[in-house]
Amino acid sequence: MKNTSAFFPKKHLGQNFLIDPRIKEKIIAACEFQPTDTVLEIGPGQGALTERIIPLVKELIAVETDPRLYKELAEKFSDPKATVIHADFLKFPLRNLSPHLKVIGNLPYYISTPIIEKMIIHREQITALFITIQRELGERLTANIDSKEYGAFTCFVQYYMDVQILFKIKNTAFRPIPKVQSCFLKLTPHRQPALPADNEEFLFKIIRQAFQQRRKTLLNSLSPLLERTDIARIFDSLGLDPKLRAENLTLQDYVEITNALLKQGIGK
Ligand code: SAM
Repeated sequence: MKNTSAFFPKKHLGQNFLIDPRIKEKIIAACEFQPTDTVLEIGPGQGALTERIIPLVKELIAVETDPRLYKELAEKFSDPKATVIHADFLKFPLRNLSPHLKVIGNLPYYISTPIIEKMIIHREQITALFITIQRELGERLTANIDSKEYGAFTCFVQYYMDVQILFKIKNTAFRPIPKVQSCFLKLTPHRQPALPADNEEFLFKIIRQAFQQRRKTLLNSLSPLLERTDIARIFDSLGLDPKLRAENLTLQDYVEITNALLKQGIGK
C-alpha cells in the first residue's frame, strides 16, 4: 500500500487517514470484535483499520468509493474473509448482507449525517455501530436537554439508538491533518424505543417544527403545525408549560405530547 506522501488525498471525499498507532489500537479494543462477527467497514481508505480487523472476525466487507483506493485494497486484502467493494456507501444495498452486522468507520465527514440516517433505516440488521465523526456532531448526538447542542437530530438518533462518546481524537492523529477535532462513538440500536410513539412520522414532524424556531416558546413555534388551543390543552394535561422552549423538553416529553395529540384525533 502506498503511503500518504505518495498518494494525493481527495479533500472532497473526506480523505484524512488515521496514522496514530495508539488510536488505531484504542479503536480496535473498543469494538470488542468476536470471531463470530460479520463487520461492515465504511470507507476503509488505505486499510488502517481493515488490516487489524480481518484476523479478529469471521467476515469483513469494506465499501470504498475511491477507485484508486479500492484497487489497492482489493490487491492487498486477498484474504478469503475480506471482500472489498467499490461503491458509494450511501447507494450500497445492505439487504443481501448478514442480518447481524457490526458496522465501523472513520467516516468521511461530509456525509456523516446521511450515513447515520442510513444506519437508522437499517437498524434491525445492526448490532452495533462504531464511528469516528467530527466532535461537534458527536456532542450534538449525545446532548442533554437545556443545551445549545440539543436539537431535532439529537432526538431523532436517540429515539432509535443508545449513543455514547467513547473517546476524543485529536486532529493530529490523521494525515492530512483535518481542520476539525474528532471523537469515537458507539451507537447501539434499541430493540424497542424506551417510550414508543404511536406515529413516528408525526413525532419527528413536531420535533422538527419545535426546533425550527428554537428561540420561541413552544406555544409559538408549534403554532404553524397545531392549533394554539390544542397546544395549551395538551401541555396542561401533561403538566408541561407551553412557555418552555424546544430545548427544555426531553424526548420522552415529545413522545407523550405526540401520543396525547393522536389520542384526541389530532395528527392522524
Ligand atoms: N478508514 C480510513 C482510515 O481510518 O484511515 C479512511 C478514513 S477517511 C476519513 C474516509 C474514507 O471514506 C476515505 O477513504 C474516502 O475515500 C471514503 N469515502 C468517501 N466517501 C465515501 C462514500 N460515499 N462511500 C464509501 N467510501 C467513501
